Amino acid sequence: MESCLQEDYYKRLKSDFIIVNIVAGAAVLLISAVIMLQRYGIMVGIPCGMHEILHIYCPGCGGTRAFFALMHGDVFQSIYYNPAVFLGALLVLYYESTVFLTLVKKNGKIYFYRKTGLVYAFLFIFLTYAIVRDYLLVGMGIDMIGDFL
Ligand SMILES: [Zn+2]
Repeated sequence: MESCLQEDYYKRLKSDFIIVNIVAGAAVLLISAVIMLQRYGIMVGIPCGMHEILHIYCPGCGGTRAFFALMHGDVFQSIYYNPAVFLGALLVLYYESTVFLTLVKKNGKIYFYRKTGLVYAFLFIFLTYAIVRDYLLVGMGIDMIGDFL
């Protein structure tokens, strides 16, 4: 009975894992393609509304720069531009490695736990950073990224 339940668990975890990776993989490929096309001037960049009209940073601003900094191995610069990229990469790494380990080992141990606290922590840091960055810009005249001042 118990092994039957376990097989069901593995099957479900595996199908979820495949679906998540297909959808997320396609999204990452699409976003990467757009970023590369913009980077090399083949495609016009999509302007950020908050950036262009309100002259403040939106929570996503600096994301592309953070992505490239991370690709060059500069973790601190990446976090400085936008911590969401590095923290998001950590969350993805956690999910991928623990689900993979659970499915490959199949020893009855579960290495992956749905830690919603991690997601909330991510959102908290992401939004707090955006608020602090705009407060520094508007309230104190300190432009962290240097697009406006
Ligand atoms: Zn923006």
